[in-house]
Amino acid sequence: MIVSIASGKGGTGKTTVATSLALYLNGKGQNTVILDCDVEEPDSALFLKPVLNKPKTVDIPVPTVDFERCTYCGRCAEVCAYNAIAVAKKTVLVFPELCHGCGGCALFCPEGAISEVGRDIGVVEEGDASGIKFVQGQLKVGEPMAVPLIREVKRRGIKENKEIVIIDVPPGTSCPVIKSVEGSDFVILVTEPTPFGLNDLKLAVETVKKISIPFGVVINKDGIGDSGVDLYCELERIPILTRFPFSREIAVAYSKGIPIIDAGVEFRQKFEELYDTILSIIQGGL
Ligand code: SF4
Ligand code: SF4
Repeated sequence: MIVSIASGKGGTGKTTVATSLALYLNGKGQNTVILDCDVEEPDSALFLKPVLNKPKTVDIPVPTVDFERCTYCGRCAEVCAYNAIAVAKKTVLVFPELCHGCGGCALFCPEGAISEVGRDIGVVEEGDASGIKFVQGQLKVGEPMAVPLIREVKRRGIKENKEIVIIDVPPGTSCPVIKSVEGSDFVILVTEPTPFGLNDLKLAVETVKKISIPFGVVINKDGIGDSGVDLYCELERIPILTRFPFSREIAVAYSKGIPIIDAGVEFRQKFEELYDTILSIIQGGL
């Protein structure tokens, strides 16, 4: 089973929910994997403190042109959907930051003038966090190609056996979110009960609906803000899976890198309820 934890914006508590859910499942004796796909700013490790193996570089293939063979026909520029290659008079320009590494230009070059070289986009790290298998991606600073790195994190972490995989998804609603979430059995959307939280929740709901994965909402910092998120969920018939209060206990634990689940016995019970509710929804019980 794969459960993704997402949010329309950063700072909602998505990672604290993801890491605590992984700890809860691991504590129950489940074979648990956590994938930190928030590759621009992975911080699950702050809470889980895994022992990591040596990082492995991830690269994508980008074209390089053999000008001895090139006839400047322009075919490569025509097939590139990302404007990553341009043909001008007697030259071919490649823009590596725009290249998605799809290989289309090399495939369609009539002269066989294009070969590919690897462009380093970041690293993937694997390790163990007290029995939880841990995989995270770390994108190079300023690197825009998050999707290939997320694909590699998932390839390494999801083995199609009896594990429960928890995915910490990047914030927002763009391509890296879709790539992280695709293939999941359930998506938890973490939000805050504020007008900003509601706005971003609506965007996240639209995204998850489009890819037809069952989902529910976790309200974090319950007690601040207003009732807008509750009213919206009621109107849209979106299940509210659980709530974490706006509390000093949680804030202190967070500041020390302590997962919510270890901040008090009542929070452990909330993860039990959360997981049971997810199972009921997946199995059609709710
Ligand atoms: S398709 Fe090949 S031959 Fe044509 S311009 Fe591009 S690199 Fe040159
Ligand atoms: S590999 Fe794909 S994205 Fe990159 S330049 Fe060629 S066609 Fe464009």
